[in-house]
Amino acid sequence: MERGGQTGVCCDDALTPGAYLTDEVIQAVLERQCHRCAGCNAPLAPGSTHFDLRQPVICGGSPVTENFTALCPFCHRNLMRRIRERFAGHRNK
Ligand SMILES: [Zn+2]
Repeated sequence: MERGGQTGVCCDDALTPGAYLTDEVIQAVLERQCHRCAGCNAPLAPGSTHFDLRQPVICGGSPVTENFTALCPFCHRNLMRRIRERFAGHRNK
């Protein structure tokens, strides 16, 4: 109903920056982090590596290589939860 303006950026959109995640970016990020998780420093296994933006686009971040971070599934889930909670707080349910 009330869909004026651009304020309602969907959370899931911001949390799945897949469109910006090219092979080049993946390689650059993995090399920068020596193939280790940015959260817990665990070695990242191919196939269970999650990529995300350290600073979500909706928080002013840019989808550039420097802003991407590689995480293990555990840390990625934690990060998503933190971001979700942040936005949930804004909406106040
Ligand atoms: Zn981790």
